[in-house]
Amino acid sequence: MRGTILVISGPSGSGKSSLLKELLASMENLYFSISTTTRQMRKDEEDGVNYHFISKEEFEKDIQSGMFLEWAKVHDNYYGTSLKPILKAINEGKTAIFDIDVQGHKIVRDRFGKITTSVFITTKDQITLKDRLEKRDSDTKETVNLRVNNAVTEMTCIHEYDYILINNDLKNTLEELRCIAKLSRRKASSVDIESFFSKWANIE
Ligand code: 5GP
Repeated sequence: MRGTILVISGPSGSGKSSLLKELLASMENLYFSISTTTRQMRKDEEDGVNYHFISKEEFEKDIQSGMFLEWAKVHDNYYGTSLKPILKAINEGKTAIFDIDVQGHKIVRDRFGKITTSVFITTKDQITLKDRLEKRDSDTKETVNLRVNNAVTEMTCIHEYDYILINNDLKNTLEELRCIAKLSRRKASSVDIESFFSKWANIE
């Protein structure tokens, strides 16, 4: 098997991070792509675990030196995916998981469409999303509003995804996500067909 890519997008507050944490803990051969960002680190976050936190100047230097597979400006901050570790993970036959926005998804799909499966995770409506963001208590009122507005824009791109999950219940959504992650490894394009056929037909 060759490596594959699983893109997970969805508004902050959709439950994406909790789902990803559970998925990563329960499946083998996954590689989580830790993005680089210029946004402020939150109280419950750790540098090098949730993100690589760097300055705007450093980020712009990295863009110039072609470090990123993709990068985007989201909520006024830069976010980017480093190319090198992703290529390594794919060459090792792993499933590389990206938690990226709709702009990043477009780029990954353009470059690695054949081995990419994508999932958009969201809430049942906008009110639920706002409610969850307010309860999270990690953002100011302005940031919550910015995130909700951004979610509305992101929702206009959901038809570009392979799967849409409405996260009403964490356990059920996790089960669905696990099924998708398993099947994403069975894409015909991720199988080394020549070698598989040689073995199958017993050709030396
Ligand atoms: P947050 O600030 O809530 O961690 O993330 C904000 C948004 O940025 C989320 O939609 C998340 O998926 C997106 N994001 C995180 N890392 C990347 C990245 O490397 N590239 C892109 N394009 N988006 C990212």
